[in-house]
Amino acid sequence: MGQRAVVVGGGIGGLAAAIGLRRIGWEVTVVERARELADAGAGISLHANGIRALEALGVDGPVREAARPQYTGGTRSPGGRWLARMDGAALERELGTPIVGIPRAALHRALRRALPSGALVTGEQVLSVEDDAAADRVRVPLGDTALYADLVVAADGVGSRLRPLLFPHHPGPVYSGSTVLRALTDGPFEPGTDFTLTWGWGAEFGHIALADGRAEWHAVLTTPPGVRHADPLAVLRRRFGSWHDPVPRLLDATRPEAVLHHDIHELATPLPRFTKGRVALLGDAAHAMTPNLGQGACQALEDAAVLAAALATAPDVAAALARYDAERRPRSQAVARDARRAGRLGQRLSHPVAVALRNTALRLAPSGATLRTVLRHADWRPPALDR
Ligand SMILES: Cc1cc2nc3c(=O)[nH]c(=O)nc-3n(C[C@H](O)[C@H](O)[C@H](O)COP(=O)(O)OP(=O)(O)OC[C@H]3O[C@@H](n4cnc5c(N)ncnc54)[C@H](O)[C@@H]3O)c2cc1C
Repeated sequence: MGQRAVVVGGGIGGLAAAIGLRRIGWEVTVVERARELADAGAGISLHANGIRALEALGVDGPVREAARPQYTGGTRSPGGRWLARMDGAALERELGTPIVGIPRAALHRALRRALPSGALVTGEQVLSVEDDAAADRVRVPLGDTALYADLVVAADGVGSRLRPLLFPHHPGPVYSGSTVLRALTDGPFEPGTDFTLTWGWGAEFGHIALADGRAEWHAVLTTPPGVRHADPLAVLRRRFGSWHDPVPRLLDATRPEAVLHHDIHELATPLPRFTKGRVALLGDAAHAMTPNLGQGACQALEDAAVLAAALATAPDVAAALARYDAERRPRSQAVARDARRAGRLGQRLSHPVAVALRNTALRLAPSGATLRTVLRHADWRPPALDR
């Protein structure tokens, strides 16, 4: 089987894919358009499925070291009433790990360090690929030159430039209806619980406690796309200032310049395939989903582990890609559907009666219901990935 791959995009998905491919003996070049690889971003949570994928890729150690297990927390109303609690210890008993929280920069760094520096080309954009079926390889134009590969992994994110070239009839990503502002606190912060998610009318505020003592927080609002604020913290204080502790304290503990603001886009129309010729789409390029289940990056990590395992065992690249598509597309698209539904019932629900009914249903749900919801997606095991 071919032994050379080009991975387009050096995000969580692309780096994980490169690690998996190297683990099975492939030569890999990751091409990233940013001049410097991201040491930015707020925090991210990883479920057991993401951590198991990292285990299969052999990089769970450094990620666990930089992560903080999330044992206490749940969902609250703006007044502070608990609607549902999550028992991290019970999750750990079921899956071997609770959900963990980690700064994005730390996760990215851990993945990057698992690759030799020569495997990363930064400051270069890949805008097309040419599948040369006769020569059994793909040509990847790169400025005045080109790379040749037996496989290209398109891990170029939700705004993928390669996806529309491969699937010209697919409508592409759409605005989800929600925008997110998020940040890390400036210094150590004691939030009281490891994590919470608080749902108001058409708005959500959440936090994750991190291993270095800081906390990440995010505020999600239902607004038209493109709305930006000169003073985002002032806007957030007006919207969330009266919510329960620690919401106002989190805002007070944040420097204005630390606030990131992004509109959330998703692939609402599922792709018909995750592969075309010798190109495999992976991560958000394949299945960008709303963040309501905290599963987007976990799914990208699963993609990476499955792709490597398929290439390690299938007789040729075509068979491996067929297996990758068959294993990854139904699962990741089901998770994306559930994430959208979770957003509709959670942050996006705005009618007061519907919100009251939802909150009552959550409070009356049998104990263990929240745990089962998490288990539905987190209880996933990667295929064996032998060196
Ligand atoms: C608010 C929010 C919260 C989230 N929280 C969680 C969470 O708690 N847990 C979780 O699992 N997921 C979460 N996610 C989802 C997660 O962030 C994404 O699914 C994940 O980062 C996708 O990684 P990726 O590598 O596929 O794409 P990206 O991170 O978008 O990386 C793509 C990379 O490709 C590069 N690139 C793009 N085009 C080109 C090109 N033409 N040539 C070369 N390089 C290119 C980009 O610069 C970028 O570095 C969240 C998402 C959001 C928006």
